[in-house]
Amino acid sequence: METSKPHVALLPLPGMGHMIPYLGLGKLFATHHNFKVTIFLVSIDHSSQTESKTIISEMSNELCNIVQLPPVDITSLVDPNTTIGVRLPVTMREIVPAFRSSIATLKPCPTVLVTDIFGTDAFSVAEEFNMLKYVFFPSHAWFLALTIYTPILDEEVKGEYVHQKEPLKIPGCASVRVEDLFDPLLDRTNQQYDEYVRAGIGIRMSDRVLVNSWEELQPKTFEALRDDKLLACVLKRPVYPVGPIVTQSANSSKGDLLFEWLNKQPNQSVVYVSFGSGATLSHEQMIELAWGLEMSKQRFVWVVRAPTEESGDKAYLNGRSGDKSHDLFGYLPKGFMSRIQNVGFVISDWVSQVDILSHPSIGAFISHCGWNSTLESILNGVPIIAFPLFAEQKMNATMLTEEFGMAVRLEVFSSKKVVGREEIQKKVRKIMVDKEGHGIKDRVNELKYSAEKAFCKGGSSYEALSELAKSCEASM
Ligand code: UDP
Ligand code: UDP
Repeated sequence: METSKPHVALLPLPGMGHMIPYLGLGKLFATHHNFKVTIFLVSIDHSSQTESKTIISEMSNELCNIVQLPPVDITSLVDPNTTIGVRLPVTMREIVPAFRSSIATLKPCPTVLVTDIFGTDAFSVAEEFNMLKYVFFPSHAWFLALTIYTPILDEEVKGEYVHQKEPLKIPGCASVRVEDLFDPLLDRTNQQYDEYVRAGIGIRMSDRVLVNSWEELQPKTFEALRDDKLLACVLKRPVYPVGPIVTQSANSSKGDLLFEWLNKQPNQSVVYVSFGSGATLSHEQMIELAWGLEMSKQRFVWVVRAPTEESGDKAYLNGRSGDKSHDLFGYLPKGFMSRIQNVGFVISDWVSQVDILSHPSIGAFISHCGWNSTLESILNGVPIIAFPLFAEQKMNATMLTEEFGMAVRLEVFSSKKVVGREEIQKKVRKIMVDKEGHGIKDRVNELKYSAEKAFCKGGSSYEALSELAKSCEASM
């Protein structure tokens, strides 16, 4: 009798922050469990399509089959200025017919579909082709808890969440402070709110839920997700913490000018500044950051993207790195580049962040607190200076500072929603120079150890993924 292994179809949202952990999960299925893996890439527009496919294909080392789905035109369905919180779910709905056609041609037909938040409309295809239906939530357990609980809040809470006097209560979990609300919850009359409520319901249509976190990092939240009296009565699906899944170093950029420069810097002396794959700063914020870095008198590497009117997620709408046609250095304060010679390094290209964070010269990370960046920081023992911008990043920043103790947070003092230069230089020095930085560094190293333990043979995440793989095999 022919013994065949499961064939897993992965369908992440567009955006590197989603595709990267999905690729990592795909590689684990391929290498540890010998599964056949196909990753379907969805693009939000033409400009991001070729670039992200190239990056993901290069990272895959041919372990996973990569299928680029044809772009869908959603211009007639959404307002051109609508937020990413609407564009992503609409795109994921509209991609379903193309995904179905592609699945129908694959031999052998996939036996498991793993999809993302907003991707669960594709479960209709999974049902048609007799596939298991999994959700891989490429973020942490607290955010999963909020997501599945929002449909309940939607019924219980009267009026806008932003007007609530008390933090939002999620059974068994930390409450969400009103000032940290996930963007779609800021306005209940906006379509992105309805889309998020729908996403919370969609996850319940799955057979199992995977989370890119580990049991020991968020024990209370995972317990709540399994407790019938708390959140299991809402989700009703087994939850598997399988993280931290991050992409391994590609080592492809080690020869670049940047790494030559980093090689010359003392250990833990450089602050790495980056806001992930989709975020941009306002021009005013960029100027304050430039001055703050300069005034801190610390070495730094800054990944600069062209500014937008307001800090936020605009780069997602226009392709990853925003407007490339301008000279980025022109947005920086006058004389900045010559004053920072040999102290700072400014780049605008995509460089593998894991390669930077794992360099011994890196001592701290000014980060937007995207979940992948957080995991990569933990795995490299690098403390974070939290600079949350959009989506769930404010929640993450609160968790990183108050619960994990691995970060200090930059505070916005002005009414203009800009973090000032004084605040930036103060917090940078707090981590890099003051004694307080040592305690935080020790704490990140404890988390690093806990992450490594969870992820290696016999660890909680390793075993959870093995159990899941066995159930995929058993269903064949
Ligand atoms: N990344 C990278 N180089 C860059 C920018 C980002 O390698 O110049 C990677 C980073 O390592 C992380 C992902 O892109 O794996 C960004 O994910 P995250 O969740 O931190 O933020 P998002 O981009 O989703 O806001
Ligand atoms: N530099 C930069 N971005 C670049 C290239 C160079 O910020 O893409 C700056 C950086 O401050 C560096 C300086 O230019 O310290 C000189 O760089 P280079 O490696 O050419 O010279 P060296 O470090 O050997 O003096």
